[in-house]
Amino acid sequence: MPMGTNHPGLGSYNQAVVLETIHAADGISRVQIAGRTGLTAQTVSVIVRRLLGAGLVREHGTAPSTGGKPRTILRIDPDAGYAIGIHFDPAEITVVLANLAGVPVRTCRRSLTAGLGPPSVIAAMVQAARSLLAAAQLPDARVLGVGLACPGPLDADGTMHAPPQLSDWDRVPVRALLEEAIGFPVGFDNDATAAAIGERWAGAGRSVPSYAYLYLGTGIGGGLVLDHQIYRGRSLGAAEFGHLTVAPGGAECHCGNRGCLEAECRPAAIEAAHAARTGHRLSHAAICAAFLSGDAEAVETIRGVTVRLADAAVSIVNLFDVDLLLIGGPAMREAAGAFRDAMAEAVNTRAVNRRLHRVRVEIAPMGADAAAIGAASLVFHSAYAPTLPG
Ligand SMILES: [Zn+2]
Repeated sequence: MPMGTNHPGLGSYNQAVVLETIHAADGISRVQIAGRTGLTAQTVSVIVRRLLGAGLVREHGTAPSTGGKPRTILRIDPDAGYAIGIHFDPAEITVVLANLAGVPVRTCRRSLTAGLGPPSVIAAMVQAARSLLAAAQLPDARVLGVGLACPGPLDADGTMHAPPQLSDWDRVPVRALLEEAIGFPVGFDNDATAAAIGERWAGAGRSVPSYAYLYLGTGIGGGLVLDHQIYRGRSLGAAEFGHLTVAPGGAECHCGNRGCLEAECRPAAIEAAHAARTGHRLSHAAICAAFLSGDAEAVETIRGVTVRLADAAVSIVNLFDVDLLLIGGPAMREAAGAFRDAMAEAVNTRAVNRRLHRVRVEIAPMGADAAAIGAASLVFHSAYAPTLPG
């Protein structure tokens, strides 16, 4: 839990700390908030009054206390605000409408024809978002903003720079284009970081101080939360776990390196490896389904993938000493359990600090919608989550 500070100039920071503390707890009293944040009872009381006044928090029954009067329990009001989350994947867009608790209340998915340019894709995003708002009968005034998760590399203004799967999208200011077309403020992040933020807000990352997220999609990416803060790096390029070298001298990667995790283990690479070894050209989906049914060739192909993922997991844990390693994204499919087991065994038998603490490896619970939910959470996160003023 982030700690508050009793310095007088940091009111909004403390408000964010209190709000996040209430969100992370399943019902909490003012006294408990003071205990967890290090803020004085008086400061907590003032902030809670402000949050109640703004309708972000509500009083929700009482709990007995030792002596004295019963304590009032506080909870986030999930209906106090909504956000739209959009995940732009080269193959499809996923749009969710989520409440302040990070729970999606409506979702829609549209597939994209290969080669569509920015104007058509932006129009499809706006149309999908508008149809969700209409279906939920939600007026624009209740929407805090839009979060956009898209493939990197991205710069700090939300411009895409030569994304590997999208040839017409070099130097496209996607954030500004969407903001102009949709009429809400738009926040953005790369898809893997958005998924990691979503898990922090409403999934397996709640209250976990430090975790890494390994994202398996058309490509392979990652997100990183260190000491309760999202870590993005100098140019939003941190946690590019897909470009860890796992096969020295191996397959050429679009990044300019060889033997990257992405070059060896993205769906297209799995299809190519399977075809090269067996002579059978199968889709990634078919290989994963065959793996589940025990097909010996598919089992051997997936075993090769788990070895690479396990090596990458050990490097991630050695670099960042996290409590939790989450794996998720649309390319997990039927092999997800095998990936998790291989990574869990590797980090707890081969990582440097294995004798000091165990590292949990879990399948991210939000599934294929993780990046879209994460994008929506990004709106709440940037609006409310604590960031110390720089
Ligand atoms: Zn690479």
